[in-house]
Amino acid sequence: MNTDVVSNSRQAVVVGAGFGGLALAIRLQASGIRTTLLEKRDKPGGRAYVYEDKGFTFDAGPTVITDPSSLEELFTVAGRKLSDYVELLPVDPFYQLCWEDGTRFDYVNDQATLDAQIKSLDPADVEGYQRFLAYSRAVYEEGYVKLGSVPFLSFRDMVRAGPQLLKLQAWRSVYDQVSKFVRNDKLRQALSFHTLLVGGNPFATSSIYALIHALERQGGVWFPRGGTGALVQGLAKLFQDIGGTLELNTPVERILVDNCRVTGVITAQGKQINTDLVASNADVIHTYKKMLGHHVHGIVEANRLKKKRHSMSLFVVYFGLHQRPEEQKLQHHTICFGNRYQGLIEELFSGPGVPEDFSLYLHSPCVTDPSLAPEGCSAHYVLSPVPHLGNAPVDWSVEGPKYRDRILAYLEKHYIPNLNRDLVTSRIFTPEDFRTELNAYVGSAFSLEPILTQSAWFRPHNRDAAIPNLYLVGAGTHPGAGIPGVVGSAKATASVILGDLGAAI
Ligand SMILES: Cc1cc2nc3c(=O)[nH]c(=O)nc-3n(C[C@H](O)[C@H](O)[C@H](O)COP(=O)(O)OP(=O)(O)OC[C@H]3O[C@@H](n4cnc5c(N)ncnc54)[C@H](O)[C@@H]3O)c2cc1C
Repeated sequence: MNTDVVSNSRQAVVVGAGFGGLALAIRLQASGIRTTLLEKRDKPGGRAYVYEDKGFTFDAGPTVITDPSSLEELFTVAGRKLSDYVELLPVDPFYQLCWEDGTRFDYVNDQATLDAQIKSLDPADVEGYQRFLAYSRAVYEEGYVKLGSVPFLSFRDMVRAGPQLLKLQAWRSVYDQVSKFVRNDKLRQALSFHTLLVGGNPFATSSIYALIHALERQGGVWFPRGGTGALVQGLAKLFQDIGGTLELNTPVERILVDNCRVTGVITAQGKQINTDLVASNADVIHTYKKMLGHHVHGIVEANRLKKKRHSMSLFVVYFGLHQRPEEQKLQHHTICFGNRYQGLIEELFSGPGVPEDFSLYLHSPCVTDPSLAPEGCSAHYVLSPVPHLGNAPVDWSVEGPKYRDRILAYLEKHYIPNLNRDLVTSRIFTPEDFRTELNAYVGSAFSLEPILTQSAWFRPHNRDAAIPNLYLVGAGTHPGAGIPGVVGSAKATASVILGDLGAAI
């Protein structure tokens, strides 16, 4: 167990069992704080929910698992080993990138294979790629290793990081930086699309996010046997094995505040739980507007945050096919680029409607783990970024089924012959579902957009500025979305809480 134990008479409530909430709850419980994790839905995981249907298992959200060491650390602080709970399988290639003209690019970790493919796109870019990789490694060191799990509570913290951020030209966008190093258009897309996986527009997100490339090359891309849901179950079990309490189907209605200090929470069932501190993993605007809407600070903060820029939403189709994975010409992760890149992305981030064309991410996990579908079948999901409801107020109950049909027809034409003939089951998740199921403001899939002016100190802080025993964890706080991001946010928030409690004992 963690030797840095504070006091077992302390109690914490964590609201929301997404990756961030789970990771924080484990850290607090392992530090000797009696921790209760309250989750609205019937399963933990948040965006990483799991649907089961007709023998198929569909991970709802994250599928690209990077930086396994940050996950291993959660087990280590609790005195356990990750491998006793879940098996991580390597994914190779990391992704297959495809364009409509038939170009394929296997995004792998082997330098010689990468060089050969880059050379076939443009020989001059082989050297440019090396310079990009060196840049990406430098931002990875500064932005992720040094600052990725450090709380930015005061402007001084930001000023301290300033010189490095300037040196790394953090004010430039990821796409701008990539374009300085390579000139082939497809390669520029291949090296910049990653920000979309954490809700960032590659043409607006700070070039610090170019670190994702180094993160993947350094730690690999992994997939848990049994799906991402197996990893979530592993974390939930770990939390309970070390004495934590997990309550599902328990939405929190209200955070109780007395004299500018949190005293407890009230659940939708009317149960009051008194506590020394609350950490919210729920959407930041939901936290302030709904759970703290009875307090002037909650109202002011919610109104301030609503004016920020919010990440785009996603439209996801989960589908099972009566097709053997080994007979499909698919890799585990396929990025299907459409004909437009910048123009399409600008529309996804600003609306006013859902673009006619799309770029898709296709998930085919049976390539790595056939157990996710019945014998002779394959499970998939396809994800299309779409504007959030604030930018495109679409009636998804009407448009959703039509949009699904268009996407499946496109996949059938370009990637999966006979898809509709072999379809066994399908379901959709729309921006409206992000809003209602996950309490996400305007149905954003990734919370606040990760632009420089909404990052680090400019992002909602890991500890609230006015209520000192109220904390945030997850995509809406520093460092931001993505599993490595929210697991890093849990480390940052835990360090603030332990510091605060240490000072209070
Ligand atoms: C489709 C999709 C694909 C993605 N793919 C990847 C990927 O491949 N790799 C990657 O690293 N990242 C990926 N991401 C991003 C990543 O999944 C998220 O950034 C991350 O999981 C968010 O975690 P979180 O801790 O912020 O909480 P969330 O997952 O948002 O969980 C918050 C939890 O709070 C609960 N909650 C809300 N309100 C209340 C309340 N009032 N009371 C109690 N509980 C409440 C919710 O039900 C939810 O369980 C993807 C996201 C999506 C949507």
